[in-house]
Amino acid sequence: MAKKIVITARDLGRTKMENFCARCFWFTYHFPLPSDHPFRSPMPGIVSTLDSYIRRVVSVTYSEKRSLPDWLANALSGMKVIDVLEPKRWEARVGDFSLVGQPDAIWKLPDDSVFIVDYKTAQLTPSQEALFPLYEAQLKAYGYLAQGNGHTVSGLALVYLQPQPYRDDPDKLLQVSSEQFTLHFDCVVKQVGSWTREEVEDMVYALGSILSQNRPPDGRDQCKGCTSLSNWLEGIDELA
Ligand code: SF4
Repeated sequence: MAKKIVITARDLGRTKMENFCARCFWFTYHFPLPSDHPFRSPMPGIVSTLDSYIRRVVSVTYSEKRSLPDWLANALSGMKVIDVLEPKRWEARVGDFSLVGQPDAIWKLPDDSVFIVDYKTAQLTPSQEALFPLYEAQLKAYGYLAQGNGHTVSGLALVYLQPQPYRDDPDKLLQVSSEQFTLHFDCVVKQVGSWTREEVEDMVYALGSILSQNRPPDGRDQCKGCTSLSNWLEGIDELA
């Protein structure tokens, strides 16, 4: 029986990226490097630590004060939230493929609809903005999955927490290190515009049709990576 193809919300928008390579994607999906592989670099844990810290701050603030933290409520123009739901890993069948994902936060609004959020700890630099199509598709996948689980979705948003390095402000730098070392963040909300279920399904089919091929598809034109990799493997093969 053919292996079930599972597309994650994080991967959904990959084909929208300028440097997308179907061949690379096929290989990394079917032959992921195991955690003990010598060529695998350890991932820096700070970003996921910050993301789970933000989730915790928001949920504890809500359970204690029945409102979002002020910095977040202000960035959302005072949006009223009546409950903070526990995010779940959702899965939906799309044709022969599965779409899976778990958002960072699901907020219930007074009309019983949900507002879905993903936190990003990053400066909104041009290189970060270039990732927006990927993040936008990720949120659309969550919207699709939420609808499939009986929710009415009223909005999708990226909540950016931007570290403030205060490079040119010595007074601020002294202030943030006077008693203990602290790092300040600005909160910026970027909402995702309108989307449709067909749009999400098309993205699933686009990736699914690449991954269900028996052989790796062709690589990108002009990319020298494949040639240099096969030269390198040939060199190793001669020594083995
Ligand atoms: S090395 Fe280049 S062409 Fe080869 S799979 Fe990777 S991105 Fe694609």
